[in-house]
Amino acid sequence: MGQILFNKPFIAGKELYYIAQAVTYGNIGGDGRFTEQCSELLQELTGASRVLMTPSCTAALEMTAMLCDLQPGDEIIMPSFTFVSTANAFVRVGAKPVFVDVRADTLHLDESQIEAAIGPRTRAICPVHYAGVCCEMDRINEIALSHNLLVIEDAAQAVNAFYKGNAAGSLGDLGCFSFHETKNYICGEGGALCLNSPELIERAEIIRDKGTNRKQFFRGQVDKYTWVDVGSSFVPSEIACAFLYGQLEMFDVIARRRHEIDEIYRVLLGPLESDRLLRLPFVPKHCGTNNHMFYVLLPDQNTRDELMDHLRQQGIQSVFHFVPLHSSPMGQRVAHSNGTLPVTDRVSQCLLRLPFFYEIKYEDQLRVVQELTKFLRNRAVTITSEQGEMQSRKAA
Ligand SMILES: *Cc1c(COP(=O)(O)O)cnc(C)c1O
Repeated sequence: MGQILFNKPFIAGKELYYIAQAVTYGNIGGDGRFTEQCSELLQELTGASRVLMTPSCTAALEMTAMLCDLQPGDEIIMPSFTFVSTANAFVRVGAKPVFVDVRADTLHLDESQIEAAIGPRTRAICPVHYAGVCCEMDRINEIALSHNLLVIEDAAQAVNAFYKGNAAGSLGDLGCFSFHETKNYICGEGGALCLNSPELIERAEIIRDKGTNRKQFFRGQVDKYTWVDVGSSFVPSEIACAFLYGQLEMFDVIARRRHEIDEIYRVLLGPLESDRLLRLPFVPKHCGTNNHMFYVLLPDQNTRDELMDHLRQQGIQSVFHFVPLHSSPMGQRVAHSNGTLPVTDRVSQCLLRLPFFYEIKYEDQLRVVQELTKFLRNRAVTITSEQGEMQSRKAA
């Protein structure tokens, strides 16, 4: 029996053709026509005032820290259950991440715990749309408004995800996307920054282009281009954007296929969830997910680890996810947790992500589920209601 990979980057078809075109056009540096076309497609998708392409989501997050003029000692509220870049982008400028626990049902920043973490130095809230399902943005924006805070979405996993009909990336002041090869739409390494108010555009363009007003110069708004502000090299290569354009033009096809894979797992794993041998991802009714990943929550860490081992022995790759940032050496040095984070700790121990990519075959999904079923039914450890997940799920 063959190996089943966890991820296989999908080539939509025209990527190499568009790269060849970019080379032929003679502009493979930054901000050529493919970069502009990618921006335009993402502006249409999100309705953002402007979308600027970047070399990664990490770069987009770093831009937000500069754009918001975050100062040493400023505090940013975020989950600990996230990728390092969410925190690093702010730590680089001396700001301090303040971690709040996640909800047991959606694994998102728990909006009911945000206000308790706000202090005199709090400047921003950074919700992470985990698994391509949006956070409770109405409540988060309401809190931000009443405390005069910025909202910076880490929408790395949430390109083409929606909240009450509005696209991720357009739900806060600023939104950051990733096109890393592990995400839904890819170009190797890539990202974008969504600017949701027109006042942010001019300075963002300058920061993105090494602190120069080159964009204004090319538009004929100034007669020479020069150094006017802080900035860095946040313009991606035109070659990467040419590749990405080949993916973005296949947006719906990719989205539909991911939805189908998700449905198959849900149907096949339903009986295990009914018998409380695992828990499936919860998507609130008002959230349109982009099906970024498929995870299962197991009753405890031993079950998770042994299941992972069992799958590996059967030639099936599965992976756990974030090591909580508050437990990392750097997190302990530079960040602060508001209280304990019991849900974060438990979820990181009990979560397992299953193989999920465009070209996965139905038979392979079936084999994954059969192995899960064999292992979990034999082990017969169930999720208890004291663990809270099922209860809060009903309440949601
Ligand atoms: C992937 C990811 C990032 C980083 O994206 P890059 O494009 O690799 O820099 C940041 N935050 C989250 C939540 C992610 O999943």
